[in-house]
Amino acid sequence: MNKVIVKRGRARPLWCGHPWLMSGAVERVDGDPVAGDLVRVVDHEERVIGDGIWNGVSQISVRLLTRGASAGDLATIVTEHIARAVALRVTCGFPSPDTTGFRLVNSEGDRLPGLVVDLFGDTVVAQFTTVGLWRVRDLVARALTPYARRIIEVVTPEAAKREGIEGPLREAIGEGATPDERVPFLELGLRLVADVARGQKTGYYFDQRDARAVVASLARGQRVLDLFSYSGGFGLHAARAGALAVTSVDSSRGAHELGRANAAQNELTSIDWVEDDALRYLIERGRAGTTYGIVIVDPPKLASRDADVKGALERYRRLNAEAMRVVENGGWLLSCTCSAAISRDAFERAIAEATGDADVSAQIVWQGGPGRDHPVSAGHTEGAYLKSVLLRITR
Ligand code: SAH
Repeated sequence: MNKVIVKRGRARPLWCGHPWLMSGAVERVDGDPVAGDLVRVVDHEERVIGDGIWNGVSQISVRLLTRGASAGDLATIVTEHIARAVALRVTCGFPSPDTTGFRLVNSEGDRLPGLVVDLFGDTVVAQFTTVGLWRVRDLVARALTPYARRIIEVVTPEAAKREGIEGPLREAIGEGATPDERVPFLELGLRLVADVARGQKTGYYFDQRDARAVVASLARGQRVLDLFSYSGGFGLHAARAGALAVTSVDSSRGAHELGRANAAQNELTSIDWVEDDALRYLIERGRAGTTYGIVIVDPPKLASRDADVKGALERYRRLNAEAMRVVENGGWLLSCTCSAAISRDAFERAIAEATGDADVSAQIVWQGGPGRDHPVSAGHTEGAYLKSVLLRITR
């Protein structure tokens, strides 16, 4: 096996479970690996750190798959790690009679860097973001076969460009499989569909399941404003829990089509779908003096890199201040960030600043993130991208 030697003083994060060896930390390479090859990573004293996948053109030269030397080849490792990921879900109660859609593999969090697998009933969507696992996608598909009738493999155009992946960006495997249909699944008893062809992410945001349950627990009799609603997740759960009225705002028309289909399937008629910019809508409602018992703010990723953090924090502050203005006295604000580059501390500081702007008091009543189907490696906190906070707002 080709060997990659880490510079003296640069191995510590790897020993502590961080799975990325950056190109600047590589002392030398013994051998001539090509992108996607399994390589052995050792420190400057030749102690084996682990085995991982090489990519010489990426800033991340190696993504580690194992701690210590592996016993098998890449095929064995991938198959084992998928089986382990599935076993963790089963232990945590997935699937269950009322939840048949969830995350089966969470990339670095399951020691399969660059592979996200979401299960929708009998369909799995496997999303590849690194060339290494893409090269062995047949093997990934084989390892997933016991868990689904059909498998859809996806590469995002950004990942294809960055990693030099060629070939189809979407492939469907399995009998009668086509990559372009709506697939049904259950989330906490709600009957939902995901658009696995044109939808966002793999088709649905499973990471907000726990937060949706929190909102549902408070929703009876409330007027709810669900901002950045996508296919309706929060608002649908609130409506089913007895909300008086729900307004779901998203700038994407496709998202509302899915949302309407979801509402119809569950016979929920109290949801109003608004196609608009969330901040614009908030400002307008604020001027009109409209208030809500619950407001949800779940924007897309606002900071992709460290350089974006300052600007993104300003945007979170503004968005949350405007949201606080339309929460009734004693009402609730659920606010989220899915920017890995933004820490919980920094996010909550922006929220605190927003309370000053809006002249309200806020109590943090719950702090959350993704559910147990989204494990994060303890040494790789970048994997904990989603942070949510539930605030009670008083004046
Ligand atoms: N809350 C959703 C997930 C939100 S993802 C859920 O529970 O599933 C972020 C959403 O924000 C996307 O659907 C995207 O279309 C929408 N979006 C992006 N920019 C927006 C804007 N300026 N105003 C309103 N919606 C926006």
